[in-house]
Amino acid sequence: MSALNELSETIAVCQQCEIARNRTKAVPGEGAESADIMFIGEAPGYYEDQSGRPFVGPAGKFLEQLLASIYLNREQVFIANIIKCRPPGNRDPLPSEIQNCCNWLERQIGIIRPKIIVTLGRYSMAKFFPGKSISKIHGTAQKQDDIIHYAMYHPAAALHQQSLRQTIEADMLKIPALLVEATAIPDAKPESRQLNMFEV
Ligand code: URA
Repeated sequence: MSALNELSETIAVCQQCEIARNRTKAVPGEGAESADIMFIGEAPGYYEDQSGRPFVGPAGKFLEQLLASIYLNREQVFIANIIKCRPPGNRDPLPSEIQNCCNWLERQIGIIRPKIIVTLGRYSMAKFFPGKSISKIHGTAQKQDDIIHYAMYHPAAALHQQSLRQTIEADMLKIPALLVEATAIPDAKPESRQLNMFEV
């Protein structure tokens, strides 16, 4: 069994947080172990909790359309969440849950070593772009530890706020250029270098 599958099996039985007791299934994440791009959302919702798979509800359908717009499908990337269990009633994840669960995400990143991590929404943005505001940094990238981090609104935002749809679609379309340049961007020292998409 691959290291990633082994890790998924461990995540699936994790009991570190109280919310593990209420879940139907943990949602470790899925996709290619060799993925160049990793998409990181917030937390499983109802459909994900039922199926054990990430982004299979309405937001997931939109994510699949966004992937298709850059000629990718979900098997070619890796899709995960900041936390692996559904918070009851879809409440926001607690800081303690994020803290406990981030270890799993870091181990997944360590195995996959993606070229690009795309944060979807403010919870995953907060991990990789601490202190930033999604309305300011969506569609921008920075390189840390040889991985490009790219911030996007959560796909569900477009379902609640139609005006964000075009913004999210436009941000997605910038990813192929980032991928092409992924190996050519100099490391930022001592602070991470902010990349203007149009300079990349
Ligand atoms: N929203 C998320 O953030 N993750 C999912 O897996 C589904 C919806």
